[in-house]
Amino acid sequence: MGWDFETDPDFQAELDWMAAFVREKVEPLDHVLDNPYDVTNPRNIRLVRPLQQQVRDRGLWACHLGPELGGKGFGQVKLALMNEILGRSKFGSVVFGCQAPDTGNAEILAHYGTPEQKDRFLKPLLENEIVSCFSITEPQGGADPTLFTTKAVETDGEWVIDGEKWFASNASCAAFFIVMAVTDPDAPRHERMSMFIIPAGTPGLEIVRDVGHVGEKVPMHAYLRFNGVRVPAGNMLGKRGQAFAVAQTRLGGGRIHHAMRTLGEARKAFEMMCERVVSRQTRDGLLAEKQTVQEKIADSWTELEQFRLLVLRTAWLIDKYQDYRMVRKDIAAVKAAMPRVLHDVASRALHLHGSLGVSHEMPFMDQIAMSYVLGLADGPTEVHKVTVARQILRDVVPSTDLFPAYHIPRLEAEARALVGEA
Ligand SMILES: Cc1cc2nc3c(=O)[nH]c(=O)nc-3n(C[C@H](O)[C@H](O)[C@H](O)COP(=O)(O)OP(=O)(O)OC[C@H]3O[C@@H](n4cnc5c(N)ncnc54)[C@H](O)[C@@H]3O)c2cc1C
Repeated sequence: MGWDFETDPDFQAELDWMAAFVREKVEPLDHVLDNPYDVTNPRNIRLVRPLQQQVRDRGLWACHLGPELGGKGFGQVKLALMNEILGRSKFGSVVFGCQAPDTGNAEILAHYGTPEQKDRFLKPLLENEIVSCFSITEPQGGADPTLFTTKAVETDGEWVIDGEKWFASNASCAAFFIVMAVTDPDAPRHERMSMFIIPAGTPGLEIVRDVGHVGEKVPMHAYLRFNGVRVPAGNMLGKRGQAFAVAQTRLGGGRIHHAMRTLGEARKAFEMMCERVVSRQTRDGLLAEKQTVQEKIADSWTELEQFRLLVLRTAWLIDKYQDYRMVRKDIAAVKAAMPRVLHDVASRALHLHGSLGVSHEMPFMDQIAMSYVLGLADGPTEVHKVTVARQILRDVVPSTDLFPAYHIPRLEAEARALVGEA
């Protein structure tokens, strides 16, 4: 009977160290720096690098990696617990060397990269000497990748890429781009595209503009244009026509880490809400003494704990099966539930802070905006709910009778037959 909700004491000691370190040293960076991915910015170098060194010294650098890449091979449950702490700060994951999308990009480079690709792109990425961009979404369609039209044509031993991409995060800081392009338009739908690595500065690669969203200090998501961008044949990542398989490799673990970071953010809002209601006086007592306020506290705590258990159980399943395909439904459920938890908890926190809550002096509006972002990035909530429902219904046996198998008159007749009319 292996069913345990406790963290073993040794690892708990690491989590406690992390919690104090993030609160005292990393969270302050959110107030003085702009972009965690701007690795060449002198202010980032001065303030972030020494903290990264402390994390390395503690043996907690890039813990998402397996031992073959210099990581600890912690597995997803431990990573989930760590990410819950890192989610409190925009700089948390960069300081610990496990920031998206670089983690996912490293995952696919490690899995599909040639020795040359690993040497040139993976090694410096793992050290956070450079950052990367994963670009698949196009202006005319994001949720449905079969609508992508950016194409790569083989010419004289090179690939020539033409088209447009949209909302490519961190493009302006990235040293290389992983880009999905149509190489085989006549192949079956999921075998038409291949993945390419394009180094920054390759002629023809144009950043039309950086697009920002509410809650971001600087616009970070690029509208990209590829004007006859040429890359050598060796820059294909994975096999020709395999782009979907490559993309899937990076998404599963990434979504669980994202979910735990989101939980960390939502818990921060919850803690603020709790502090406020036990501090703020109204009429004949504290806000905390009003039952409708207590309901908001109770609902928020329950939603946070429910979500946390779903994420941890999913992380545990990933560790158990070591195959994302076996946990697709669970990961999709986590992805679909994540925006709502942040939205609801942050909204209650905002409301209980009154005018202060809607002001620029509190983070709640940004957190609510972030909840909408989370419902889009890595695919819209609806698409993930479809995955959950399809996977559940796949194994349900239809009734061949006019009335359902659970129709009460039928159940009564069956029960009578079982126990006898008496
Ligand atoms: C902050 C942020 C960062 C991002 N970073 C990256 C990145 O680094 N690289 C990258 O390639 N992309 C990135 N994206 C893009 C992201 O993957 C897309 O926004 C997402 O896939 C949705 O595509 P879309 O925006 O084109 O919306 P659309 O495809 O136009 O969908 C719009 C809406 O239509 C509805 N809808 C769509 N399909 C269905 C369906 N099947 N069933 C029911 N309703 C549906 C949903 O309500 C959905 O929100 C990022 C997005 C955000 C917000």
